[in-house]
Amino acid sequence: MSNPKSVLRVILGDQVAFDVATLADLDRERDVVLMMEVEEEGTYVRHHKQKIVLVLSAMRHFAQALRERGVTVDYIDLEDPGNTGGLTGELQRAVERHRPGRIVVTEPGEWRVRVLIEGWESLTRTTVEVRADDRFFATRDRFAAWARGRRGWRMEYFYRDMRREHDILMDGGRPVGGDWNYDAANRKRLPGRATLPAPRRFAPDATTRAVMALVERRFGSHFGELEEFGWPVTRADALHALEDFITHRLPDFGDYQDAMKADQPFLYHSLLSPALNLGLISPREVCRAAEAAWASGAAPINAVEGFIRQILGWREYVRGVYWTLMPGYAQCNSLQATRALPDFYWTGDTDMRCLHQVIRGTARHAYSHHIQRLMVTGNFALLAGVAPRDIERWYLAVYADAYEWVEMPNTLGMAVFADGGRMASKPYAASGAYINRMSDFCPDCSYDVNRKTDREGKTGRKACPFNYLYWAFLIRNRHTLSGNPRLAMPYRTIASWPSGREAAVLAEADAFLATLDSKLEDTA
Ligand SMILES: Cc1cc2nc3c(=O)[nH]c(=O)nc-3n(C[C@H](O)[C@H](O)[C@H](O)COP(=O)(O)OP(=O)(O)OC[C@H]3O[C@@H](n4cnc5c(N)ncnc54)[C@H](O)[C@@H]3O)c2cc1C
Ligand code: SF4
Repeated sequence: MSNPKSVLRVILGDQVAFDVATLADLDRERDVVLMMEVEEEGTYVRHHKQKIVLVLSAMRHFAQALRERGVTVDYIDLEDPGNTGGLTGELQRAVERHRPGRIVVTEPGEWRVRVLIEGWESLTRTTVEVRADDRFFATRDRFAAWARGRRGWRMEYFYRDMRREHDILMDGGRPVGGDWNYDAANRKRLPGRATLPAPRRFAPDATTRAVMALVERRFGSHFGELEEFGWPVTRADALHALEDFITHRLPDFGDYQDAMKADQPFLYHSLLSPALNLGLISPREVCRAAEAAWASGAAPINAVEGFIRQILGWREYVRGVYWTLMPGYAQCNSLQATRALPDFYWTGDTDMRCLHQVIRGTARHAYSHHIQRLMVTGNFALLAGVAPRDIERWYLAVYADAYEWVEMPNTLGMAVFADGGRMASKPYAASGAYINRMSDFCPDCSYDVNRKTDREGKTGRKACPFNYLYWAFLIRNRHTLSGNPRLAMPYRTIASWPSGREAAVLAEADAFLATLDSKLEDTA
């Protein structure tokens, strides 16, 4: 018998928040909360093992916390007999068990799941109510209204509107401190002997350890290692992580936001993205905590504004871009890049030290910070002409914080310029000089960052591949990029080269790229 008044409330894996819209009008007497562990969600890309542990452990802890509050939870374990392995299959089975009058769910974070949900009403013959995800500052409609009619979608202007609308770091109608943006103060290299504050990590409890064993059993061949797992899996842990960041790292966050250091993947970053994206803490409380640190004098304005801009600005903006431009966005490839992803992205087996460092750190921690993503792995993929879809699937697979709504625009729009400049005013292409300026990777690399061409130099080391790949990238994409005023200077440099230099650069780049392709064939 169906119970017309009961509601089946579906909580997806990245919605483990007591204030998620799905639970707003929960009736503890009548309603059932459905949570589903399914194989498909761990394998549609082969997620890093830490990502799968994080999501499943957070779900199990959340289900327990709901039960302790008197909520009826129907929790589908990955290894339950009869588990169909997919969200839709499990929803159908749950509808048969509970015969609810209605299904309520909050809009998902990925287009793929939205398509699944659109089919639920006709499949189950039950009304499905999809609620807006109000854990974000801006609704999807708010972003679409902002974007409508604008030629360029520059994040900075969206961010200023968000500051005004949500009254964050504002003094009446003006930004506190007088400026909207303190980025110019935020590009420092780390001093050689800086003592770095170790971020708080969380030892796996019994629930997490059980999930780790499950993941090794079921997803053991996926990328990444579990030994260093230390992510918050409960709201209490996430609040401790926030406090630890605000107290110990926020004050220096701005100065060293772009810096990189060998064997130090975290520096002054917050490490909050996995908890934020799951819903363990909200962007509002994180921004308010940072703002309070500035108000009390505990952190300077360049650090606090820089940090808040990442969340109130970038995080909201990329979500808006994703939902406004999907599903076509996934296919964009403005530079017509077609190279297969080099195998070393999965192994770290390369003598380019910067890439080795970042990829090995990613395998150990399911994390790298923004500049490592953008200017090392992303920059190389851009310069080498890796197919956008290949590099995009890689980013979705390898991080603990990866969900398509945030990962895809960062990859296609920021890292590899596949959207032709919808997000970035020019490609984030850089030679080895940038990596050398912002890190300590280069002195111990087998390549010489100061050599521009591959002819043997005094050091006996060959030229840094980023150097000739950078120029070859500009030459190859001249037709698309030379009209961009922000690239006028490098194109003027190329025009001033003696004859034959262009061809020599292209030949060096081709010879290097051919070694990547042959490695791929070796391992196929
Ligand atoms: C190619 C590429 C792929 C990325 N993929 C993801 C992803 O899958 N998931 C993800 O959450 N972030 C992604 N980012 C954005 C950013 O790199 C991470 O949010 C950040 O490194 C997370 O570490 P943190 O929490 O220590 O960040 P912090 O440096 O401490 O920044 C604070 C918070 O700001 C937000 N933030 C910062 N930069 C961005 C950004 N560009 N876009 C959206 N939010 C931002 C995050 O929520 C982050 O927790 C990607 C960036 C690039 C260039
Ligand atoms: S020399 Fe080039 S390849 Fe080596 S670490 Fe520096 S930028 Fe990377």
